[in-house]
Order: sequence, then structure tokens, then C-alpha cells
Amino acid sequence: MPHTVTDELVSANRRYADRFADPGMDARPVRRVAIVACMDARLDLHAALGLSLGDCHTIRNAGGVVTDDIIRSLTISQRKLGTRSVVLIHHTGCGLLSLTEDFRHELEHEVGQRPAWAVESFTDLDQDVRQSMARVRTSPFLPHTDDVRGFVFDVTTGLLREVDPASPAAAT
Ligand SMILES: [Zn+2]
Repeated sequence: MPHTVTDELVSANRRYADRFADPGMDARPVRRVAIVACMDARLDLHAALGLSLGDCHTIRNAGGVVTDDIIRSLTISQRKLGTRSVVLIHHTGCGLLSLTEDFRHELEHEVGQRPAWAVESFTDLDQDVRQSMARVRTSPFLPHTDDVRGFVFDVTTGLLREVDPASPAAAT
């Protein structure tokens, strides 16, 4: 029978469940934090930030950019599941740095329709982190915007570098 990566994952899950004990938690993150990050495979959020099961919400997409759907998740996270802090994480070597909005036109050319979504590509990591912080801070749906911080994760060193929300794009 064909053996796919999904089959491997299902096998791994059986081993996981064999050792799994019900942690007896409810759905509210213990540390009351939501982390918005890129989907990049090199970014292991729990290991990199010292997080354990049940500690946080992790909300990820291509680039870790704050789109309407990220705001949707953050709104539910804060209003229904008790989180208070927001951490935004972009990273070096992100695929979004090599894309432009032309990607939408390429798609239109190939399949005959342009996607409704923006590519949300960027050329300046720090500036995009600032833009993401601003989108969170100015959202009318989010009641807790006093603890919103943004970082760039270096995929070669594993270190986070904080982005100053006030600096202009040309900083450092
Ligand atoms: Zn990325």
C-alpha cells in the first residue's frame, strides 16, 4: 500500500497517544499570551520560547502578518479565552521577502482569476513587524493592546531581536 508522510504522522500519533496522560486543562492558555508567527518550518515556537503544553495560543500564517483572519483569532483568544498579551514573530530568511504583489498577477495569468487576498509580501522585516504591531494596537475588536511586542527570530542563531515600535523604517 502507498506510504505517505501523512501515514507516518498517524503512526507517530499512535505512539504519542500511548504515552499521553490527560493534562486536565481547559482551553484557556495558562500564560494568557497569544503568539502570532510565520509558519516557517525552522521556527519551533515552544522550544524557542520555553513554552509548555497549554501555555499559549499560537496563530501562524505565511509571514506572520496580521491579516483579518489573524485579528479574528486574536479577538476570540482575548474575548473568549482570556489572553492578555500579544507577541509577534517574523524571522530572517522569510519566503515573503522574496515575493511581491506580482505573485497575484502571476496567479491570475495562470488560473484565470486573481485571488481576493493580498500577498502581504514585504522587503523590510522590522518595518513589517511594526506594521503588524500597529494593526493589533489599532484593532477595535481587541480589548487588550497594552502589551503587544514584536520580534525578529534569527533562524541561524535561534535568537530573538526585539523591534522598537517607534523607530522609523531606516533604524539600525
Ligand atoms: Zn517566514
